Amino acid sequence: MANAAEPIFSDRYSRQTRFAAIGEDGQRKLAKSSVLIVGVGALGASLAQHMVRAGVGEVRLADRDFVEPSNLQRQMLFDEADALAVLPKAVAAANKLRQINSSVSLVATVADVNAANAAALASGVHLVLDGTDNAATRLLLSDLCFKQHIPFVYGGVAGAQGMQAALIPGATSCLRCLIGAEDSEHEVDTCDTVGVLAPAVEFVASLQAAEAIKWLSGNQEAIRQTWLSVDLWSFRLRESKLPSGSAHCPYCGSGVEPPRPAKPILETAMQDEDVISSAVLCGRDTVQVTLGKPLQLAELEKSLVEQGCKLTVNRYLVKAALQSGEQLIFFPDGRVLVQGTADAEHAIRLCRHYFYS
Ligand SMILES: [Zn+2]
Repeated sequence: MANAAEPIFSDRYSRQTRFAAIGEDGQRKLAKSSVLIVGVGALGASLAQHMVRAGVGEVRLADRDFVEPSNLQRQMLFDEADALAVLPKAVAAANKLRQINSSVSLVATVADVNAANAAALASGVHLVLDGTDNAATRLLLSDLCFKQHIPFVYGGVAGAQGMQAALIPGATSCLRCLIGAEDSEHEVDTCDTVGVLAPAVEFVASLQAAEAIKWLSGNQEAIRQTWLSVDLWSFRLRESKLPSGSAHCPYCGSGVEPPRPAKPILETAMQDEDVISSAVLCGRDTVQVTLGKPLQLAELEKSLVEQGCKLTVNRYLVKAALQSGEQLIFFPDGRVLVQGTADAEHAIRLCRHYFYS
């Protein structure tokens, strides 16, 4: 494989450095930057590609999911081979991104981003990019970013509509002040209920990537200080000025130490002595069950075969197709995605049956 240090790549960034606002100085700043992208689905995969092609020094990717055929219509880094191999999105994305730019340090984490691991994942980054698909994770990231003075570049898409804003601690209000609580009505429509058009994703990802490149290349004064909404179908574009921090908000306001979030990041549907908890993934006919301990995939694989499951296995996960129609996807960090049900108790029963038998 060609190496990024080879002379043939010496003008890789020439068209970007010729852009006056960036120049050689901005390019050096980009190379010294690090970003965290949470969610490597449609928005995240596109954001990752922009960051890697632009020459951001370190790109961290975190995602809890794996590549499925229904992703390929809009998630631009993935292909049929990734879906057939049931690769985790963070891994499949990192594999492609290394081929695009081998000089970027890529860190792929296959995990559910939650209150327990978000701070470690974001530690030391210059920017957090939103590639998530739910209000709860976005608010967790906004809270964390405002607490740690890291800009949070929000983006959301459903149908042909999108929204985008760069939220800057000390300058703008936080996401919580803009959209309300986890159960606010702002995100009633999801990609799983109303579908999503790939061009709408790319439009919002481009807006996010542009703000990120401005910030990381030292052009902070060029940051767009507005909340932008777009409908690409009817083409309507609306922009409203972002308010500054609200006085009584513990995150974007007074500087009072923020309280713990009022709600846990994932709705805990059931909890017992095995520390099993679950979360229904919004609109997806999927429940995420957390077993509370790491899984030995090799052992599990044997036991699932004995129980008559049809398996797809790679080094990152074991996917078991049950005769009853559901699919269980086991990850080594102790998570199980149960597809084919939105009933948390049923999902837990299935996990117990196939994990503990
Ligand atoms: Zn706030």
